[in-house]
Amino acid sequence: MLSDGIALRLYSDEKQFPKKHQLRIDFDNGTSLFASVQMYGFLEAYSGESDNPYDQLARTKPDVLSDEFDFSYFKSLLEGVDKARLSAKAFLATEQRIPGLGNGVLQDILLYANMSPKRDVKALSDDELLELFHAIKSTLGKMTAQGGRDTEKDLFGQPLGYKTIMCADTYSLPCPRCGGLIRKEAYLGGSVYYCEECQR
Ligand SMILES: [Zn+2]
Repeated sequence: MLSDGIALRLYSDEKQFPKKHQLRIDFDNGTSLFASVQMYGFLEAYSGESDNPYDQLARTKPDVLSDEFDFSYFKSLLEGVDKARLSAKAFLATEQRIPGLGNGVLQDILLYANMSPKRDVKALSDDELLELFHAIKSTLGKMTAQGGRDTEKDLFGQPLGYKTIMCADTYSLPCPRCGGLIRKEAYLGGSVYYCEECQR
């Protein structure tokens, strides 16, 4: 079990082993797993089945980057929502509907989808839904390939490789696309950052 604020990485070269860490597990194949708590967080080891409801729910759902998470699966998530209206943030980043997609990664996804966090996803056309689906896949793919967002740090205290476009560090800067103002607002628990011109 892992909370926010934990850096976790597997190393195979002893020269790269981080000095500061709270957990080290050496494996028979010569690799070692290191974990470091960066602000506040926890690591817990269990034997048997986890009874954490978030964990249990996440295990029943496909990973966003897997082939199982395809456009028809994505559409089925929306069809399963029993509400007349639902904002893009509520749909994508609440109720563990898509495990792994939280408020932190949501901002850049919505920029790439040209979509406001408040847009009613129940009223989207198939083309707009497809654009949103591709933005989720490609943005999370990029973040994963580059080791995570630069708003988080690795075990050496260095920012991770993905350059976050919409976040607390950049919102006072002009929008990288249109030069307009990036807005910051508290919305559905946590801040949202978006460009009113590019994201409708
Ligand atoms: Zn813009």
